[in-house]
Amino acid sequence: MINFMDLPREIRDRIYKLLLTVDAEIITHPTWFEEPTDFEAEGVTRPAVALLSVNKQIIVLYGNNTWRIPVDHDIRDLESYQGHEHLFRHITVHLDRRDTDVEDTRDRIEENYTQWASSTMEERMKLVHNDRLNSLRELVYCRALTIAANMRLIRSLVLVLDGLYCPSECCRLDLIKDLYEDFLCVFIPNPQTGLGPERCPQSLKEVRVAGLKSQAEKDLVYGEWGVKGAAVEQGTA
Ligand SMILES: [Zn+2]
Repeated sequence: MINFMDLPREIRDRIYKLLLTVDAEIITHPTWFEEPTDFEAEGVTRPAVALLSVNKQIIVLYGNNTWRIPVDHDIRDLESYQGHEHLFRHITVHLDRRDTDVEDTRDRIEENYTQWASSTMEERMKLVHNDRLNSLRELVYCRALTIAANMRLIRSLVLVLDGLYCPSECCRLDLIKDLYEDFLCVFIPNPQTGLGPERCPQSLKEVRVAGLKSQAEKDLVYGEWGVKGAAVEQGTA
């Protein structure tokens, strides 16, 4: 019987590719509203991670798949990315209002109770709104951006915005505008000055945005920023 390692290199590479490539995003850290889905039920094959024994397979696993960068996670979880950043080629970042931490907002309100107690209902709503908005920006900036910017060899980045709202769902367009300064300035040239992003990985060939809703959003992102669109991908855990 022929040994796997006796097969021509080209054939072995094709087998690795078949075994280690999935046709959906890989979510290493599902957030609370993304329960891991049943692979068999979805008809999606899980990559054969058990075969990962040599570098070649690891490179195929990372490089051939699309990985969803976790947003709503303790920075501890993200240590698993350390030392592997150079292996990623295709990543997605999903920004979703459900990732903002309601309990954090409540804690901050309790800390500032005097201010809260003396506020009108309208002022209270504004406090909650702004607090959760800041929390969303913090997630975007501190976590996803830090990880993505360290992936020096990525070729494609898809930003998925269909779940992006401020907590009151009132200022989505403003949030998308802020995204440039908080996130995209690292990856695409400044639409005003045309100057290239300073920290953008040289390898990055494609930045796309998925999940835009209104014409105004499309005019901003596709028109002003010059970013291409993408279909919203349904990921798998
Ligand atoms: Zn709002």
